[in-house]
Amino acid sequence: MVLETLGTKIVKALQSLTNQVVVDETALEAALKEVARALLEADVNVKQVSELRQRVKNRVRLAELPPGTNRRRLIHKTVFEELCRMLDPGIPPYRPQRGQSNVIMFVGLQGNGKTTSCVKVAYFYKRKGYRTGLVCADTFRAGAFDQLRQNATRARVPFYGRYGETDAVKVASEGVERFRREGFEVILVDTSGRHKQEAALFAEMEQLDRALTPDHVIFVMDGSIGQAAYDQARAFQQRVRVGSVILTKMDGHARGGGALSAVAATHSPIVFLGTGEHLDDLEEFQVQSFVGRLLG
Ligand code: GDP
Repeated sequence: MVLETLGTKIVKALQSLTNQVVVDETALEAALKEVARALLEADVNVKQVSELRQRVKNRVRLAELPPGTNRRRLIHKTVFEELCRMLDPGIPPYRPQRGQSNVIMFVGLQGNGKTTSCVKVAYFYKRKGYRTGLVCADTFRAGAFDQLRQNATRARVPFYGRYGETDAVKVASEGVERFRREGFEVILVDTSGRHKQEAALFAEMEQLDRALTPDHVIFVMDGSIGQAAYDQARAFQQRVRVGSVILTKMDGHARGGGALSAVAATHSPIVFLGTGEHLDDLEEFQVQSFVGRLLG
């Protein structure tokens, strides 16, 4: 994962402190400059980087520390905590209620891994013992239903869709209704994506949101898209109530910036990371362990 490069650079920046005889304001400033550079190179938004730098400086008041304080350790700990803070919007991740029908709608741009993630999440909940069903409301992309059908069959998860149906709201409502009637607990709705943030995509997404009143909306985003992440995530959040985020392709060229930007733009927690094309290439996201892994 290219993400590790970011970790290595931050660790190196902090290690530079070890080579200093005295850890004073100048040394701290130099180390934070390097940390900031590493974050910017990883496509983290400029505003977020300068906020992190300022917050660390405000918290580590070198002049006021009692003698004997391990300054290096304090700086390291503060950078760790501030990185965690950037990735944690302070909202507990959504958990479906057992014994009820929980409708979860997936949104995102085409090619970002929405259908793949939808099936992975279905498989995840199925293994947790929830009665889980998948609804294909992607009536835009030819082959979307076949893709979902094949993957759902592989995951042994029941699915609903209709060949040739062009009305996404109709097919989604039918599928949700049917799974509800049959007492399914987790009903996942895969909606259509487009290549760009088009008006038609957002209009359809809003119609689905109104018709299904989902309990939760998951925004799926390619974790390797870099600086575009913030605006893309924001555009979705402004149109539907995004409740959590899945970052895909974290096994590829993701550099970390996507994760930080998605949280900042949606004020929603990341719940899963997609780490490959297979059914179980899905990791539950844990802020502390993600940052811990980053910093080694
Ligand atoms: P959608 O258009 O958003 O529904 O995207 P798809 O689910 O069809 O995924 C687009 C491509 O990305 C497919 O070739 C998937 O196999 C691939 N893909 C999805 N998630 C991941 C992931 O986490 N890692 C990798 N390496 N590939 C992924």
